[in-house]
Amino acid sequence: MKYIGAHVSAAGGVENAPVNAHKIGATGFALFTKNQRQWNAKPLSEEDITNFKKNCSKFGFSMNGILPHDSYLINIGHPESSKLQKSRDAFLDEFQRCEQLGIRMINFHPGSHLNKIDEAECLKRNAESINWTLDQTTGVTAVIENTAGQGTNLGYRFEHLAAIIDQVDDKERIGVCLDTAHAFAGGYDISTKKGFMDTFIEFDSIVGFQYLNGMHLNDSKKELGSRVDRHETLGNGLIGWTPFELIMKDQRFDGIPLILETPDPDGWAAEIAKLKSLGGE
Ligand SMILES: [Zn+2]
Ligand SMILES: [Zn+2]
Repeated sequence: MKYIGAHVSAAGGVENAPVNAHKIGATGFALFTKNQRQWNAKPLSEEDITNFKKNCSKFGFSMNGILPHDSYLINIGHPESSKLQKSRDAFLDEFQRCEQLGIRMINFHPGSHLNKIDEAECLKRNAESINWTLDQTTGVTAVIENTAGQGTNLGYRFEHLAAIIDQVDDKERIGVCLDTAHAFAGGYDISTKKGFMDTFIEFDSIVGFQYLNGMHLNDSKKELGSRVDRHETLGNGLIGWTPFELIMKDQRFDGIPLILETPDPDGWAAEIAKLKSLGGE
């Protein structure tokens, strides 16, 4: 089975995310467990935690279908040591919040080198940040997302993801989430059946399907290889429906969250219904 959903709002409290996901017919979801644009957040209360778990079970959400996203401020590959530590502390807090909520994984972008260190050094810092965090937590897998490669963001090549995984000590708690819009903008042409198949042959040989813990399903407003990150509603962008239909019919994408981050929340219920029908559900 596939866990299909969207990155839903947790405004008013984390316990509202499963309610919002249920309203759009989702079987999985993503959320922020704190305000994604602020460094500090008040700790989760016992009540927040209980109500989150209660709502997940009430609406039938498995923890295998929930993939939270960390704050956009965090750069776990930061070239400057004091700023790197600030990011690591916030990154650890994100993992601890997942531990409290019973969530088994968290999705984040690899850090940016900001033109101050080379790619290899930045990828090494990413892995060191992950090792430092995994050492202090249990039961939460670190899920690296591929990026569009805007600015000095790393993670737009499968080789970047593989280099980080290679340097992470606990291979049981490291994985990846592939964002279709980021892959396309990063230069992987998944818009045709042949391009899609070739991309995933390459992914399997460089990273490996055993590390695939989630997907972000987004069409792209920007061209193949543009290195610009602009999501579009499924079918309305330059990617089209082909890869989404292929994903829904392919067992290699079973058992993981498939999350929409498309720009129109009012369209999510229809996008989810169409994905389900393409998968024969
Ligand atoms: Zn992301
Ligand atoms: Zn994404």
